[in-house]
Amino acid sequence: MKTISLIVPCYNEEPTVNLFYDTTEKVFAQLNQTHDEQYRPDYLFINDGSADNTLDVMRKLHNQHPDEVHYISFSRNFGKESAFAAGLANAHGDFVAVMDVDLQDPPELLIQMVDILDQPNTEYDVVGCVQKSRRQNPIRAFLSASFYKVINKMSKIQIKQNVRDYRLMTRRYVDAVLEMPEYNRFSKGLFSWVGFKTKYLEYEGVPRAAGTTSWSIFQLFDYSLEALVDFSDVPLKLATFIGGLICSLSIIGLIFVIIRAIFFGGSVNGWASIVSIILFLSGVQLFCLGIVGKYISKIYLETKHRPKFIIQESR
Ligand code: UDP
Ligand code: MG
Repeated sequence: MKTISLIVPCYNEEPTVNLFYDTTEKVFAQLNQTHDEQYRPDYLFINDGSADNTLDVMRKLHNQHPDEVHYISFSRNFGKESAFAAGLANAHGDFVAVMDVDLQDPPELLIQMVDILDQPNTEYDVVGCVQKSRRQNPIRAFLSASFYKVINKMSKIQIKQNVRDYRLMTRRYVDAVLEMPEYNRFSKGLFSWVGFKTKYLEYEGVPRAAGTTSWSIFQLFDYSLEALVDFSDVPLKLATFIGGLICSLSIIGLIFVIIRAIFFGGSVNGWASIVSIILFLSGVQLFCLGIVGKYISKIYLETKHRPKFIIQESR
């Protein structure tokens, strides 16, 4: 008998928790019917400071299935990344999966994932999922494609486009992820950073079972920016490069001005160009200061050693 821990972050998911449980139970019944090895699900729901009755639903589900269903409830909304961190730290299964509660990460895929990982001589330690066709508006699709291009170019980690957070991991892979204590957590980056071999499964995207997504386009943009700063120092190099370039150009300009003054005399014309150059340069300086500031703020948050989440209740 092997245990599969299922880490399921929930934020205002009152209508979906039971739906998720019922669907996943059926998948495990099918898994155990078709395999000699028996697998036991170990549900670990994380209530990420929901404002609705998600916690009540979890409590009831735990009371009905005290051995199988566990939950952790945060004292406020800490974000999905913190929910992952809490889940990974408290999941004790032989295999660990992270998945959305809204059934956009189809539990049926678990069967294929187990088939890949639970082989005696498998080379894989993690199975990830990639959405084949994702129905989203063109602006979102464009922004998301650009994000993957930029982060793969600018950092040493490689992230597959349209990869979901949904994945099944072996014990040793989870232990490796747990070795990373950082406060700023971009899990797709962390998962890629630890290495090991990943097998990707492709599947058709499905709409949410119920409820609405909690991500606005601005939140996604902010999230991308954080990810970039977490895993790349290219923006800092870019700032240095721009500074160097402008320095060289101004030296050439200076030589030109001196030579002109010696041979042709000075001129009083050109105040407009001087003002625009000054404005441009102050802009560049502020931009670079902003980049440096972003990294300093990350260092600041890391050095505080604050907990990534606070647990108010867990069963
Ligand atoms: N979620 C969370 N904390 C948050 C936002 C979302 O735990 O602050 C959970 C949410 O309940 C869901 C998963 O993260 O199980 C993915 O969220 P959502 O479905 O809104 O995102 P999408 O699938 O649209 O990327
Ligand atoms: Mg979703």
